[in-house]
Formats: sequence, structure tokens, C-alpha cells
Amino acid sequence: MQTVNKIATIDREKCSLCMTCIRVCPTKAICLDKSGDEPLVLIDDQKCLACTICMTRCPEEAVSMEPREEPLPFGIDYTLADQIEVERICRKAHMHPEQIICYCRRIQAREVTAAILLGHQTPEALALATGMRTGCGVLCITSVMRLLKAAGVVLDKAPGWQWYGTYMTIWDVPKEIADKYPEYYLGEDLIAMRQVFPEGE
Ligand code: SF4
Ligand code: SF4
Repeated sequence: MQTVNKIATIDREKCSLCMTCIRVCPTKAICLDKSGDEPLVLIDDQKCLACTICMTRCPEEAVSMEPREEPLPFGIDYTLADQIEVERICRKAHMHPEQIICYCRRIQAREVTAAILLGHQTPEALALATGMRTGCGVLCITSVMRLLKAAGVVLDKAPGWQWYGTYMTIWDVPKEIADKYPEYYLGEDLIAMRQVFPEGE
């Protein structure tokens, strides 16, 4: 378990209701409330993990990070999931279960895998359950997608401005490319990686 001590806060005088923050929040913590006389952008204090992504994207500089009254705990107990399944899915995704896959939050592959097995089966649900993707939010989507794929989860198109793209890793390089460019030693890299991470089924 980790805790977060800040929360995104919106300056209503500056907010132009452009919706950008709603679209980019990795935990879906922001919504548009139309129940009052004036529409308002609201932040769910149980979902904001203070990643600052909304703050850095807001065109009006209307978002700031403020101290929370009480720290918010987040994270998942990976031991609640079937450990044999956790191991199998991590191996299938070419990851060691204890491998850190979100450096900003120091989250291990087994935590995200356990969260998938416990029913959190989109990148946004995994972000909220584990904190994954609530740091820089740049590289970790690839690890999330690899684990979801290894677990057999098929996703719809990413909502809003979320991004479900991945980048190529050594495991994805076609043999003909490795053979065509021997100066990059891709084939040798793959042999070495297979010794470290024997392929799961
Ligand atoms: S991004 Fe900024 S201006 Fe746009 S809705 Fe969010 S707080 Fe308001
Ligand atoms: S989780 Fe990040 S993007 Fe979402 S409201 Fe909190 S600071 Fe903003």
C-alpha cells in the first residue's frame, strides 16, 4: 500500500469547461456535473492519485495540486489473487513477477497481474486499483497492455484521449528484421532475454 498526500483542485474562475482534464485523467477521477445551475468539473477525492497529468494539460492553468486533509491509501495486495495464475501470466508476458513495471510508483508486475485477475481489466481500472500509470504515464502503458493480453483480456478502443498504444520490445522484433540488421545483435539479445525470462505458454 502507498498513500497520496495531494489532490487536484480546480479554480472555477479560470476553468473554461474545455473537458481536457476529463479526457486525460488515467483513473477517470474527473467528471462534468450538470446537476446545478452551472455545469462544473468535479474531482472524485477517492480516485485522484495526484499524478498532475490534468494540471499539466489544462490550457487555462486552472488546476493546482493541494494538500489532502487525510492521506489516501492506494494499491493492491497481490496475495489475494491465485499466485499460480499470477506467475503464469507474468511469464507469458515475459516479465518476472517482482519486476518493477511502473518506476514512478514502484509497482511490480505481480501487483498489476493480481489486479487483472481480481477484475480490474482496463488500463484506467488498473491505474485506480494499483497506481500504475499515475506517475509520468509514458512508458508503463506497454507493460499494462502486455499483461492484459497475456491474461486474455480484449479491449475496446481507448476512451477519450486515453492511449492504448504500445512500443515494440525485443520480444516483438520479427526474425527477418533481426537477420537483416545483424549489427544490432537483436537475435543475440533475444537469446539472452530468453535465458532470463523463459517463455511461458
Ligand atoms: S482542463 Fe482546465 S479548463 Fe479544461 S475543464 Fe479541466 S480544469 Fe477546466
Ligand atoms: S489522478 Fe491525475 S489526472 Fe486524475 S484528477 Fe488526479 S491529478 Fe488529475
